Amino acid sequence: MIITAEDLRRFLTLFAAQVATEREELTRLDSAIGDGDHGINMDRGMKAILEALPGLEASDAGSLLKQAGMRLISTVGGASGPLYGTFFLRMGTVLGDAGEVSRDQFVAALRAGLEGVVARGKAQPDDKTMVDAMAPAVEALESAADGSDWVEALTRAAGAAAAGRDRVTPLVARKGRASYLGERAAGHPDPGATSTALLFATLRDTFTDQA
Ligand code: ADP
Ligand code: MG
Repeated sequence: MIITAEDLRRFLTLFAAQVATEREELTRLDSAIGDGDHGINMDRGMKAILEALPGLEASDAGSLLKQAGMRLISTVGGASGPLYGTFFLRMGTVLGDAGEVSRDQFVAALRAGLEGVVARGKAQPDDKTMVDAMAPAVEALESAADGSDWVEALTRAAGAAAAGRDRVTPLVARKGRASYLGERAAGHPDPGATSTALLFATLRDTFTDQA
């Protein structure tokens, strides 16, 4: 399995469309346990990436993700902008300037992205953040057998992200604005874990019907 810059362009375009569709829902979730801007933040950031894509036609996979990350950091004020920005930026840094990357390299880049998010936000497992969806998704991809079907592995990763999101819904948040609410956050889905589940579902969809 070879992943090209074109695949990543398709992924970013699809994710921007999904975020636009889910904008109101993400904002509604953030209204319950945050300040009601998560959908707005994500939509603003992904639209900024979409605007930059035509100028990045010739970019390799790594540069594309680095540029995407920098766009998120510079256009999104909330916690999620710098965190998702770091995720893409670290992925891009690990991929370097290779024109196309192997599946193993791509999964290693996702691991580096996750580690970047943890280093920046200091979230522990079960703090009820995007990390609780991201970590199990990356682990699912790492544990998929070599040579196993890529879409199948991505389907498991998307399932693991959604399960992670749902698993922390009953918990109290220990990071971000939702942590100010104490017990009142329990029972509400985390907005960032929800957008991360969307990200991994989009990654699956990016490669479905591409074989
Ligand atoms: P803000 O909280 O600044 O309004 P958003 O509403 O866009 O930013 O994003 C909120 C989401 O960011 C939360 O639902 C949570 O998943 C994630 N988040 C907040 N703080 C952290 C952190 N320290 N580490 C990881 N994720 C975090
Ligand atoms: Mg918010």
